[in-house]
Amino acid sequence: MTGKTHIIGGIAACVVTTRFTSYDPLLLTAAGIFGALLPDICHSGSKIGRKVPLLSKLVSTLFGHRTFTHSLLFLLLIQVLFSLFHLPEEITTGVLVGATSHLLLDAATKNGIKLLYPLQMTFRLPLTVRTGGPAENGILAVLVLLVVYFGQGII
Ligand SMILES: [Zn+2]
Repeated sequence: MTGKTHIIGGIAACVVTTRFTSYDPLLLTAAGIFGALLPDICHSGSKIGRKVPLLSKLVSTLFGHRTFTHSLLFLLLIQVLFSLFHLPEEITTGVLVGATSHLLLDAATKNGIKLLYPLQMTFRLPLTVRTGGPAENGILAVLVLLVVYFGQGII
């Protein structure tokens, strides 16, 4: 999926999460947007990859695209690292929710993701779309509707 879809996906996931928690919605959502972009650090042309090109190149060289940073192992690493630095729970949860939304959206593409990395098994949802294709715009529209519906009274 494109960066735009990942950002809206992260916002949608956080707005829905806010409905079921007492977290500060703005802090959770800000962290969620970061989390929604973070897995694509493995791609130097991505929104986050362009911000930190050297780190992005290193991650890409070490792991390739949509492998380690698109896995459950990466989510676990985020949890462990953020707890080591004693960051507020809202930030950790927001980043994890955003990153999870990223993995789900990329699993809805034909290339899928290596969810169980280091196992090389590709995981993809039964229905997939082409990144940047017209069907992705449909997904984007649904995500915007989710934000509007669940965001009422929050933002
Ligand atoms: Zn991705």
